[in-house]
Amino acid sequence: MRVALIQASAVDESLALAEVAGVLKQRGHRLRLFLERHEVRFQTKVEAFRPDVAVVQAAIMCEPWLKSVLARLPKTLPTLLVGTAATFDADIVSRTGAFGAVQGELDDALPAVVDAMEAGGDLSEIPSVVLLRPDGTVHVSPWSEPPDDLDGRALPDRAMYFDTYPFMGRFPWKRFTTGRGCVHSCGFCYLPQLRAGYGGLKPAVRRKSVSRVLEEVRAVQRRWPLRSLHFADDLFAPSRPWLEEFADRFPREVGLPFSCNTSPETVTERNAELLARAGARVVGIGVEVASDEQRVNLLGRPTSNEAIRRAASRLKARGVRLATFNMLANPGEGLEDALETMRFNQELGADFPRAQLAYPTPGSHLETLSSQRGVELPSPDSFERKDVRAWCADGDGSSFESLARVFRLAVRWRLPTSVVRPLISTGASSALAPLVFYDAALELGWTGVSIVDALRYARHTGPPVSRATYHESIP
Ligand code: SF4
Repeated sequence: MRVALIQASAVDESLALAEVAGVLKQRGHRLRLFLERHEVRFQTKVEAFRPDVAVVQAAIMCEPWLKSVLARLPKTLPTLLVGTAATFDADIVSRTGAFGAVQGELDDALPAVVDAMEAGGDLSEIPSVVLLRPDGTVHVSPWSEPPDDLDGRALPDRAMYFDTYPFMGRFPWKRFTTGRGCVHSCGFCYLPQLRAGYGGLKPAVRRKSVSRVLEEVRAVQRRWPLRSLHFADDLFAPSRPWLEEFADRFPREVGLPFSCNTSPETVTERNAELLARAGARVVGIGVEVASDEQRVNLLGRPTSNEAIRRAASRLKARGVRLATFNMLANPGEGLEDALETMRFNQELGADFPRAQLAYPTPGSHLETLSSQRGVELPSPDSFERKDVRAWCADGDGSSFESLARVFRLAVRWRLPTSVVRPLISTGASSALAPLVFYDAALELGWTGVSIVDALRYARHTGPPVSRATYHESIP
């Protein structure tokens, strides 16, 4: 089968899609990736490839883009949706008129569907499949088990990005994964719903062996420039023995600086030492909000401020720089709470603080809380990622939107609230829009990429704000 894989932009580069592409190629299918925003004659190029099926990314908060793309594909071409929206909202198939969708992790499910289409088999028997019926309703199959073994598979097909779009290959910072899943169940995250979809049968975390991770990194290192990397796992190194082996081998066998995300609970003294020895230059942890009580009750995350303080000081004591993830305008949160989150980040000495405005994913604890408070969210087919506002805030959310814009600057420069409050209370968050350049410069510090490399890349992609809401195990 000739399979066209379609995404919006290079900033949507999906490791999950590269992993399933490796499996599809191994089974003899022909693949071509199309990044719609980087193709001058997108429609003509897709038609010239003569695909038998198009696999199109359907992520949450990307439906207007999805509909515009589907409208430009040949009417007779079957289209399969994959991604976060296709996984958590099967009705997207009927809303868009797509042929069907494949839900959840794709490793086995998508190849089974493509094989069956080639053989003219019955797709409705295949797990994880959504099909649009002639009467406009959808058939939804129970999900298949995702793989336990992340090692014994074809290597991810990184060339589909890096060779087809050489500016991506040249960019000397690249992402990898070492496993899937997380031991936590935050009320704003995809993972609890993903686990529920699989009937709670999967272990919370599945890992690649250290040898497999090194093989994946070296395969990229051999073919494309690579000066620093990011491990984009939900939770890097929850296992001490794995981290011991990694810290021993990665510096000798790869020897590059990296960043990763983990949770404060996993940053023991020993793990902080191993992360530093392995070459971690930045480690990200979730702070979310400054209040223990709100972190648990609003966000379903039972991590204490004390645990966060300990993790931050253990990392910084070893020269590892600290990134934090924060959420503003949560349901029921006041502006003073959000300013306290800013102050807490200052106390932690966050080097790379990120703040995003709360948006509840379908089926999440946050969505339940929002609807209980009468929050009216825009319909999924009406807005895109770059349009996210302080939807969940009580009343006017413009001060939260302004705080999100000024957050990095205020944390890094330890601006007192007496300075920040007037800045954000004017209601003119657009006046703070130029701070996007400060934010971009700070993000560069995270990656370690030079300004020249960054500008070369950004010339093609624009700002990353419109990146799809993918997940590392779902495109
Ligand atoms: S720690 Fe991160 S990855 Fe894990 S459940 Fe919470 S938000 Fe999701």
